[in-house]
Amino acid sequence: MKIIKKIEEMQSWSDEQCRKGLTIGFVPTMGALHQGHLELVKLSRDRVDITVVSIFVNPTQFGPHEDFNAYPRQFESDSEKLQKKNVDVLFAPTAEDMYGAEFQTSIDIKDVSRGLCGEFRPGHFQGVATVVLKLFNIVKPHVAIFGEKDYQQLLVIKHMVHDLNLDVDIISHPIVRDSDGLALSSRNVRLSQEERKRALIIPAILIRAQELFNKGEREVAKILTACVEFIDREGKLNLQYLEIRDAHTLKSISKIEREAVVLLAAHVGNVRLIDNCILGSHETLN
Ligand code: AMP
Repeated sequence: MKIIKKIEEMQSWSDEQCRKGLTIGFVPTMGALHQGHLELVKLSRDRVDITVVSIFVNPTQFGPHEDFNAYPRQFESDSEKLQKKNVDVLFAPTAEDMYGAEFQTSIDIKDVSRGLCGEFRPGHFQGVATVVLKLFNIVKPHVAIFGEKDYQQLLVIKHMVHDLNLDVDIISHPIVRDSDGLALSSRNVRLSQEERKRALIIPAILIRAQELFNKGEREVAKILTACVEFIDREGKLNLQYLEIRDAHTLKSISKIEREAVVLLAAHVGNVRLIDNCILGSHETLN
């Protein structure tokens, strides 16, 4: 596996692969890799000739009081994991190279970035969209793989690609969970044993919503009320939001008439976790 740190080197390496007629798949990450990331890598390897993974903890998507400094960084073990998965290139630029002192551009994707995480993390999706566009221009992928774990992010990126006519196919991968149901996240390593147990209420809430939906309930307010009652009964949770939205547009809905998504964000101790599940589709939590 080649490790590339310089932007120009990455661009010319990608140009060379394209000249050879090879297709490039791209998995952008912030590192602290787990099985969820590795499944995205596998999907890329199944679809294209060459897979590039980036590791870049992007400062511009963290708010001033968020966990940029505390975000786990483990470059050595990450690169070993990627090597074992036969990744072709690990791209790991520095923040200085990505954002020079004169940097002043930002991508703002309107409606789909508003609300949910957009409400609690002002500027977050501008930071995400801008860095993803930069990475696309550097890695020049034919296909990019994103996890459904960051559902709003996935739709933001899809919108950007559509609106700006970017020549890249976006493929999504379902959420990868631990055996106890907790969605894998780089932030899980920051949970104490007791917090890790408490966090299990998060997938349990989603299962509750799914049960009600499967029984035929279609009123959003009724499902959400039942979920809140479930939280009150089962224990405390420092919830930021719990919402049901249209799965394709993320618009607010009061009745489920086509695929919908239950999305939530909560703090367990100091760790902010997000999760979601689709109502009315293939993915079933168990
Ligand atoms: P991150 O390193 O957290 O920025 O995530 C990099 C990519 O991995 C994003 O597309 C995430 O949605 C995806 N990802 C993270 N955790 C999971 C998971 N548990 N299941 C599926 N995809 C994930």
